[in-house]
Amino acid sequence: MLNEETQFYLENLCSEKPEWMKQLEEIAELQNIPIMERVAIDFLVKQIDIHRPNRILEIGTAIGYSALRMAEANPEAEIMTIENDEKRYKEALENIKKLGKSEQIDVIYGDALEVLQTLTEEKKLFDLIFIDAAKGKYKNFFHSAHQLLKNGGLLVTDNVLFGGYGANPGRTPKRYRNMVKKLIEYNEFLHSHPDYITSILPIGDGVMFSYKRG
Ligand code: SAM
Repeated sequence: MLNEETQFYLENLCSEKPEWMKQLEEIAELQNIPIMERVAIDFLVKQIDIHRPNRILEIGTAIGYSALRMAEANPEAEIMTIENDEKRYKEALENIKKLGKSEQIDVIYGDALEVLQTLTEEKKLFDLIFIDAAKGKYKNFFHSAHQLLKNGGLLVTDNVLFGGYGANPGRTPKRYRNMVKKLIEYNEFLHSHPDYITSILPIGDGVMFSYKRG
């Protein structure tokens, strides 16, 4: 992954942040809530600014930070985001309300696998799907996400290098080994999937961009 110097350099190149962003980042840090890393979210929101996806689905809301960043990048987009932790779900609702984005961002409380199943049955479609929840379940999330993503849409998956262990599985501490094994399988699966063009960027914790062929 990036060395400290490069990381620092890239962070300083990111655009100046408004007060609300700084506050949410501080809250996340204080409460130990994992939100997307600065350089990685900066790249993602720029993709949203360029491609202007109308319908965005996020798996893993936490306190609403990335949903709010994506909403800001395309104020025309409708965003649906799923969170299964009740406390975080309520915090996300509160943050989104405070910033006047409740009309744009729909936060769903529940297990993503169940919600995705319902969305699939309802034949919903999205232009961009962002997977940022339980890392051991990425392939399960993908099976529904594949059906929910329009042709020509973008699937983004965060944490695919997981602290560098994705590239160095032999050095993975025992408690993470099973999860890292699943992550590696997921990365290989998407790289060889005939319906997707996939690349991993070694920014943040590793972000995978998979374009669904039109
Ligand atoms: N995307 C957020 C951001 O960058 O601001 C960070 C999301 S955080 C990395 C992952 C979140 O996914 C956690 O808040 C966790 O509670 C939630 N989560 C984990 N497994 C889930 C599941 N099966 N269904 C819904 N949410 C889940």
